[in-house]
Amino acid sequence: MPTKNSTLDNSGPPPAGDHTAALDRADAACRARGASLTAIRREVLELLYRSPTGVKAYDLLARIKEARPGASPPTVYRALDFLIEQGLAHKIGRMNLFVACQHASHPIPSLFLVCPKCAGVTELQEKSVMSALSNSLAEAGHRLESPEVEISALCPKCIEK
Ligand SMILES: [Zn+2]
Ligand SMILES: [Zn+2]
Repeated sequence: MPTKNSTLDNSGPPPAGDHTAALDRADAACRARGASLTAIRREVLELLYRSPTGVKAYDLLARIKEARPGASPPTVYRALDFLIEQGLAHKIGRMNLFVACQHASHPIPSLFLVCPKCAGVTELQEKSVMSALSNSLAEAGHRLESPEVEISALCPKCIEK
């Protein structure tokens, strides 16, 4: 859960505001895998951290261009591909959104609850659900296309309304 106070607890999703610690952790994780979080990749990841409900590629590009007028769409898309490959971000195809991973990168797929009313995205890691799903798919001779499983589900706020 994101905390508003400034304790030194760095577990869980990055708090609003300063994402330096989370970015440094991502940097270290990339290096451990022999990859490198270059300046542009780090900027894109920071933008994703600042947008917990996700960003459309087009908006992301516009915001990167504010800081780097020379940034071309392919540069930004390549940075996004890299972040997804490294398990630091996910693509929500249903909404054409990119979101930062809310966990340290994970070997199992995540469940994404996409609210049809407010377009909010919640990442759930339910090991038992996901391994049961993977097993059933395999038994049926299928394989997940991507590690993001999307479900349309009203969020608590929209249910209250
Ligand atoms: Zn994730
Ligand atoms: Zn909602």
